[in-house]
Amino acid sequence: VSSKRYLITPGPTPIPPEVAAAAAAPMQHHRSPEFRALLIETLGRLQQVFATENDIVLFTGSGTAAMESAVANMLSPGDRVVVATAGNFGDRWVKLIRSYGLEPVVVEQPWGERLDPARIGAAASEEGTKAVFVTHSETSTGVVHDVEAIAAAVAPSGAVLVVDAVSSLGGVELATDAWGVDVVVSGSQKALMSPPGLAFASVSEKAWKLAERSQLPRYYLDWRRAADSQVKGDTAFTPAVSIVLALRTALDLILTQGLANVWEHNRRLARATRAGVKGLGLDLYSPDDDSSAMVTALLMPEGVDGQECYTVLRDRHGIVLAGGHGPLRGRIMRIGHMGYMNEFDIVTALAGLEMALAQLGHTPPVPGGGVAAATALFAAEPVPVDG
Ligand code: PMP
Repeated sequence: VSSKRYLITPGPTPIPPEVAAAAAAPMQHHRSPEFRALLIETLGRLQQVFATENDIVLFTGSGTAAMESAVANMLSPGDRVVVATAGNFGDRWVKLIRSYGLEPVVVEQPWGERLDPARIGAAASEEGTKAVFVTHSETSTGVVHDVEAIAAAVAPSGAVLVVDAVSSLGGVELATDAWGVDVVVSGSQKALMSPPGLAFASVSEKAWKLAERSQLPRYYLDWRRAADSQVKGDTAFTPAVSIVLALRTALDLILTQGLANVWEHNRRLARATRAGVKGLGLDLYSPDDDSSAMVTALLMPEGVDGQECYTVLRDRHGIVLAGGHGPLRGRIMRIGHMGYMNEFDIVTALAGLEMALAQLGHTPPVPGGGVAAATALFAAEPVPVDG
């Protein structure tokens, strides 16, 4: 049927049937014993996924709301802050901070590179640096930055480290407390395989101290107000009740499978995707190693426009991948393999790519070469249960 859709994107990602069913439950009132228990339970599970004992504040909003909350709650006019960026979402920190009237020191690297912890540490060590903002999984390039090394490099400065984990949390390791990350922000719609609409920020003691002195304005995104309500199982405002129900179910699935198993599942899907891309005779844009476990970016062959390929895939085949942002628009395609994905999502993406490319005049060297390489890898790396 032409309406059948295959969502193989870096978010929003497909949601498991149990999660969809949970979201469709009859509405409950948020000021009720049932919802209070649900919220407290959900926050507890989020702490497990964040690997933190810090408070986690929850907002109804997309991931960017949690990013904005970190800026609005911790900074004051004139503060020295550092942003490290090598892609679209690193650049978002820069724009966000500027929109609050501050001028960040930007440690910039070309898109597609891994952030250099030593450069970030050096920028952070300058007198008076309050906070450092980085991205974990840079969704625009497929690069997962080495947050553990960045945290170690920033630690001597005493600056608060803020990590955008919107497209990594739950999909690759992020040891918030063990690595010493002060603030981690994320959202519900990617590796957490829930509908879009919830955003979270984990807040360390050090981050709370900054928040107590911060002079930037905030109301809806005020951490203190959110945390004071949450202690009682309340939210300051009407939350997206259905998505909290969905998220609790999704977190159960993730924790039952075990985080380490989920991370390995993602790395395996990513390995097969990379093998498949090469099997199609295409070059990778994202790194050819286990670090790019969330998103694989591939370069379009000469003469083929990525946006056109994206449109053919979507409109003729019902397959939704992602194109490129900013300077990469038209040059790359991105396959998301986070969340509720399995082997056949990868096979579908590769088969669809081959068909779309052929329609655009680029016939891969070996018919079925992408699918063959991916299935060969799956056969060589079997898993005990269906991945
Ligand atoms: N940061 C990263 C790394 C992301 O991948 C995204 C979403 N693509 C965002 C931030 C923004 O999240 P949202 O669209 O939920 O506001």
